[in-house]
Amino acid sequence: MKPAKVVILGAGYGGIVTAIRLQKLIRAEEVKVTLVNKHDYHYMTTHLHMPAAGTDHHENARVAISELINERKIHFVKSTVQQILPEEKKVILADETLTYDYLVVGLGSETETFGIPGLREHAMSINSINSVRFIRQHIEYMFAKYKLTSKHKEYLTFVVGGAGFTGTEFVGELADRLPVLCRTYDVDPALVQIINVEASPTALPPGLPHDLVEYGMEVMRRKGVQYKLSTAIKACESDGVLLGDGQFIPAGTIIWSGGVRGNSLLQQAGFDVQRGRVRVDDYLRSFQYPDVFITGDCSIVMSPEGMPYPANAQIAVQQGCNTARNLLYTLRGKPLRPFAYDYKGTVASLGRGEAVGILKVKKVKGKFAALIKKVIDARYLFLIGGIPLVWRKMIFKQKITT
Ligand code: FAD
Repeated sequence: MKPAKVVILGAGYGGIVTAIRLQKLIRAEEVKVTLVNKHDYHYMTTHLHMPAAGTDHHENARVAISELINERKIHFVKSTVQQILPEEKKVILADETLTYDYLVVGLGSETETFGIPGLREHAMSINSINSVRFIRQHIEYMFAKYKLTSKHKEYLTFVVGGAGFTGTEFVGELADRLPVLCRTYDVDPALVQIINVEASPTALPPGLPHDLVEYGMEVMRRKGVQYKLSTAIKACESDGVLLGDGQFIPAGTIIWSGGVRGNSLLQQAGFDVQRGRVRVDDYLRSFQYPDVFITGDCSIVMSPEGMPYPANAQIAVQQGCNTARNLLYTLRGKPLRPFAYDYKGTVASLGRGEAVGILKVKKVKGKFAALIKKVIDARYLFLIGGIPLVWRKMIFKQKITT
């Protein structure tokens, strides 16, 4: 009998964990697994706020896929997925077409602009290694431009739209980096502004208790971050943002971290989507196409209370483990195991040595929370690459030069 064909799209948290788990579970002759990703590396999105602000090297946020997979069991294709054809069980890549018996979609998210005019054109988003290299360079460029040209103060104004996970973590790092940049470019720190604009009445990731939110905002304010809460961005222009209250903030840098939606390829393929994400069954399969498993930011998993779980790395990793096991059970004709999300907590970094969060039900903050955040990062590296990867990315990591 011919081996079954499994194709995994995307080597983010959901996709790479599916592949790594699957290679441990399968015999090479029983299934042909192909992993497709547009880069030949896996990146840790949860780490990207640091290289974006320039407080860490982008190399520490990525790892070559060849180091993570067993190429005798997983065939890796570096290519961009252009189209998914679930009726025909085909995937069109930039340079070839793949057929599958079972598909895993882990293509992550795209920026959600909510139709705000000018956002796509003029704001930058933290969503890939290349995007954070660009943001880091842009921030330095603004300092250089301020010194070289007629000293427009707006070149030193940094507006971040959205104060959830991404916005908060980025703002914390940026606030830590600015004193260094001020020294490097000989700029008066009093001229620099970081303004975090948020439509809801509080900053920080949703779900944190009020006292932790207050603590987090106080830490940020001490670092010089200004908040504009209960304020929507109405429009974005090349030289600043227009707020819902009519104020225009001139700014040389606009970062949008106000929302994401599932990868648009799913909607284009005819899946029923809500904000680009597909609601999955108990086994993380599409209701329309049960031979398609969907993980991470592309999926909607409902809690027992009937609410969708927030999309994050933690759930994507657990989905990857479950999907690998259920692929194996499917191939061997065994009953599948339902996915049960084990929420371990949430910890948001506030910059160097500071974080806030919840571990199950226990509140953590300050240096202890920052340490926990490092443990979470180390745990993930250990899961995908063992101790050598933890060692390389956290102990002997690549140094930044400025
Ligand atoms: P991703 O990890 O985004 O991976 C998608 C993969 O698909 C990528 O490798 C991409 O290159 C590839 N891909 C996309 N399109 C194509 C295509 N057309 N062809 C080929 N390949 C393609 N969550 C937390 O739990 N904790 C945190 O602290 C946290 N911090 C965050 C900080 C930042 C700055 C950001 C941006 C997000 C953060 N998140 C955090 C959210 C978390 O990163 C996402 O929920 C998680 O990455 C989702 O995993 P995924 O597998 O769905 O997709």
